[in-house]
Amino acid sequence: MTAGARRVGMFGGAFDPPHNGHVALAGAALAQLQLDELRVVPTGHAWHKARILTPASDRLAMARLAFAGLPGVVVDDREMHRAGPTYTIDTLREFASEQPGAQLYLVMGADQARALPSWHRWQDLFQIAIISIAEREQQERAQAEFDSMNFPHARFAPLQWTPMQVSATQIRALAGNRHNAGQGIAQLVPASIARYIEQHHLYRTP
Ligand code: ATP
Repeated sequence: MTAGARRVGMFGGAFDPPHNGHVALAGAALAQLQLDELRVVPTGHAWHKARILTPASDRLAMARLAFAGLPGVVVDDREMHRAGPTYTIDTLREFASEQPGAQLYLVMGADQARALPSWHRWQDLFQIAIISIAEREQQERAQAEFDSMNFPHARFAPLQWTPMQVSATQIRALAGNRHNAGQGIAQLVPASIARYIEQHHLYRTP
């Protein structure tokens, strides 16, 4: 990286739906990593998610709403247009060629970090980007797994982060409960997302 290089982050996910944990993590990454830009990249067909995802158009609309208040976030829908499985390494390579000289950061939660060694060309990720991990439980340290692998190319940037007990799984389950769907999720998602879920009848169990 050259001094003063542009700093570009990538934060990928299903965002089905986006929630307060995602928004807080994006804000923390922008501020602490001093990013010029954070690309929020909703997945197309994520090869590692067994569940059928909500249509891309809804997830994209919700991502735009959820991150609208964070200057510096660009919601990037390129993976949704890719045929077949999408891989983070391909997206990072595209960013590298579009923004030559930029220092790339890959931001993720600890669950994704733990799964990283199963990702396509995962070791190349560290060559192209610095990885920044947000813990999801108190007292866990996903980065430690890489320390113990003695993998010399690993590059990490620390993120000060107080774990937030919120997941999209939990929100889908709450939204599926007709009796208190709105109330149940109100504290967990931005108001615009609660409205979108309600108006589009998402996550209703048949
Ligand atoms: P699901 O419950 O459906 O698996 P999720 O809440 O993990 O969803 P994703 O869209 O899969 O949400 O996550 C996108 C990224 O955000 C991943 O890197 C994930 O680890 C991270 N993330 C999600 N929730 C949190 C959280 N509460 N704290 C830290 N990172 C989080």
